[in-house]
Amino acid sequence: MRNPNHCRYIMLILIMLGLMLSGISGWISGVENLHPLFIIGIFISFGAIIFGVLTIRCPICQRQLHLKDITPDDFCPFCGEKLKADL
Ligand SMILES: [Zn+2]
Repeated sequence: MRNPNHCRYIMLILIMLGLMLSGISGWISGVENLHPLFIIGIFISFGAIIFGVLTIRCPICQRQLHLKDITPDDFCPFCGEKLKADL
C-alpha cells in the first residue's frame, strides 16, 4: 500500500529542488535572459505539485489529503482509515 505521507515528503523535496535550480540559474546567468536551468526548475516544481495532487490521497477512499506542510496524517480525515503504513 502506498503511503501518502511518504509521497508528500517526495513532493516537497522535489519542489525545493526545482526552486533551488531556478535560483541557481538566476545566480549564474542573471535575470535578464532565461537560462534553461530556470525552465527545468520550474517544470520540476510544477511536476512535483501534480505528482502530489495525484498521489497524496487516502489509499482507501481516494480523497485528497492536505498538501500544505510536512505534518503526517495518522488517520484519513474523511474515512478514518489509519495511514501509518507498513512499507
Ligand atoms: Zn480515506
